[in-house]
Amino acid sequence: MGTCDTCGNGYDDSFQVIKDGTEYTFDCFECAIHKLAPECAACGIRIIGHGVQHGQALYCCGHCAHGAGASGIVDHA
Ligand SMILES: [Zn+2]
Ligand SMILES: [Zn+2]
Repeated sequence: MGTCDTCGNGYDDSFQVIKDGTEYTFDCFECAIHKLAPECAACGIRIIGHGVQHGQALYCCGHCAHGAGASGIVDHA
């Protein structure tokens, strides 16, 4: 049984995620996202897909990257 690093819940089916050499334990994916997913530098939403990187900043979509001056990035939906 593991204890969730985000909410502290002890849960039989907890799972581990290793990021940058640090091991985390979570009871659900929502807790994992809350703790580990990067935030969009423009709108602050959690990025759980690929995201868009511009320089050192991560954005959730081309629209947000555009607002930061990354004019070469276009959403392809
Ligand atoms: Zn949790
Ligand atoms: Zn965004």
